[in-house]
Amino acid sequence: MTQPPRAPGGAWSDDRIRAADHRHVWHPYTSLDRRQPDNHWPVLRTGRGVWLYDADDNAWLDACGSWWVSVLGHAHPRVTARVAEQLEAMPHAILAQTLHEPAARLAAELAAICPGELNRVFYTDNGSTAVEVAMRASLQFHAQNGQPERTIFGHLTNSYHGDTLGAASAGGIGAFHSRLGRWGFQAMSVMAPTAPAPLTDATNALHAFFSEHGPRTSAFIVEPLVQGAAGMRIYDATYLQLLRELCDAHGVHLIADEVFTGFGRTHQLFACDAAAIVPDMMCLSKGLSGGALPFGAMVATDSIYAGFEGTTDRALLYGHSYCGNPLGCAAALAVIETFEQDGVLEHARNLAPEFDARLDDVRALPDVHNVQRLGGIARWEIGTSGAYGAAIGERVREIAVRHGLLLRPLGNVVYVVPALTMTSDELHTLFDRTIDVLREACSTS
Ligand SMILES: *Cc1c(COP(=O)(O)O)cnc(C)c1O
Repeated sequence: MTQPPRAPGGAWSDDRIRAADHRHVWHPYTSLDRRQPDNHWPVLRTGRGVWLYDADDNAWLDACGSWWVSVLGHAHPRVTARVAEQLEAMPHAILAQTLHEPAARLAAELAAICPGELNRVFYTDNGSTAVEVAMRASLQFHAQNGQPERTIFGHLTNSYHGDTLGAASAGGIGAFHSRLGRWGFQAMSVMAPTAPAPLTDATNALHAFFSEHGPRTSAFIVEPLVQGAAGMRIYDATYLQLLRELCDAHGVHLIADEVFTGFGRTHQLFACDAAAIVPDMMCLSKGLSGGALPFGAMVATDSIYAGFEGTTDRALLYGHSYCGNPLGCAAALAVIETFEQDGVLEHARNLAPEFDARLDDVRALPDVHNVQRLGGIARWEIGTSGAYGAAIGERVREIAVRHGLLLRPLGNVVYVVPALTMTSDELHTLFDRTIDVLREACSTS
């Protein structure tokens, strides 16, 4: 473990932070009855690599990659340096009838690394809005190019595409989405290839969806290869190839939501690369800025872009104040350079056999089932209740904190998505601690 860096001076005491937090911070995805002032949640001060530290130099291994964003670890030196330089030069500037080097360079880099004719970059500031703009662009594209009847979206059961209303309307997880009711876009869910049913049931369902609804469908949106929020449910690349074929045959846009999978999570730069498919639009965030800044991008093909040529009434009148934020661009440029120069994917792939060996240790524990790995994503189930917020998952999270590990199970699914730059020693520490946690959680259940 590296030496923890010093927190900036003038810091509040932990007690003062806890008191202010308890009184004023509304935490995401957190039930209020867990908000006790003495809840022992760590007060984090600094981060380096896979580690997060408190004021007493206690360290937590960030096994959930701080909600899946931390692909290069915390405070990656190149990312930090580039953001600092850009902060000095120009932290932000409007990106309308003006341009700047970070946005232009990053767009060129993304066009180079994204598959096929994905050459047009629309900047946003998080994953949900990267999805939102893709969905809106699809609807508007059809509306102004002779197919206004294409107004619905296809998506998979158990999908997750973000929390803004448009993105959430293509979401299929009851706990997050059922209260949205009739608001948002019109969307229809299709049995996911991760359902317990055989894969042929899912492919039949997909064929049936396109036969029935193809002519009025604007786009089909999918999390390629793995449904993250559903519990890291992994599926076969052949399904994506079929989806691409059916979208082509029926004139439907394919939106690949690579917010989670993009930037190496599956040990491919993009999950679409594993299936050798090119979507019409690809949504990026999370790993894009290396876990340093809120940032996102939607990358569209030249032909999608061409559908917006013309006067103002044909333009995509959509945007965010921080579109193309130069700090986010600088971070993303540093991330791409790090993947290229430091062999991040090769390093991660080389660790895979050790990863699998330790997963065998997990598999050997009682009460553990369905252990799976896809690239740098490993997951398994414990106990039986799968509901979001299931007691067993909550207990695992609490025990993990005491063992110096940040885990955040989804229901009864425990998963790890650590930084791809993690060392072999850190991998073993992660699994040593995880196994201790699982033993304790299952023995007290
Ligand atoms: C996290 C996530 C989103 C939403 O991104 P935010 O930055 O949290 O808004 C969308 N799609 C997928 C697949 C995600 O994992």
